[in-house]
Amino acid sequence: MTPMAIAQLGEPILRQRANAVAEPTCAEIQTLWRRMLVTMEAAGGVGIAAPQVFQPVRLMIIASRPNARYPDAPQMDPVVLINPDIESTGGEAVAFVEGCLSVPGIRGKVTRPSEVTVRYTDTEGQPQRLALSGFPARIFLHEFDHLEGRTFLDQVDSPADLVAQSVWERQCQSA
Ligand SMILES: [Zn+2]
Repeated sequence: MTPMAIAQLGEPILRQRANAVAEPTCAEIQTLWRRMLVTMEAAGGVGIAAPQVFQPVRLMIIASRPNARYPDAPQMDPVVLINPDIESTGGEAVAFVEGCLSVPGIRGKVTRPSEVTVRYTDTEGQPQRLALSGFPARIFLHEFDHLEGRTFLDQVDSPADLVAQSVWERQCQSA
């Protein structure tokens, strides 16, 4: 399975609200999430939303794991969420510098709640409920934004907090 093309900032699909998946178990959706998983892994991402691969449907994957971009991320098996909804958010408001596969070269500080409880349909069509905290909660909220037609650039605390990837890497190393 080859990776899919990733929509880059400026593609209209990144600004559209995605549509509900009518049949989570249909062959099209089963193929889509598998291809998204391959695409995410090839790109070194920790999450991906269907609009990022030019599919305007409410489907996302979150997959926190340590990698070059996020060395301190907790390890988790990828979770495929179809038609996710936010039941509640809580915890503290935490600021963290985010990046995005659709926004190459730029990162920005975004404040988000540290906990989120979500409902979604799994790949077998079963309803699920999941409580997330810390980095996985952040990934979920970032990907959920994509389903709403938003990117992290809409959520940055201040445009003054945007930073080039190369500068951020240098700052991290000296921190
Ligand atoms: Zn993103």
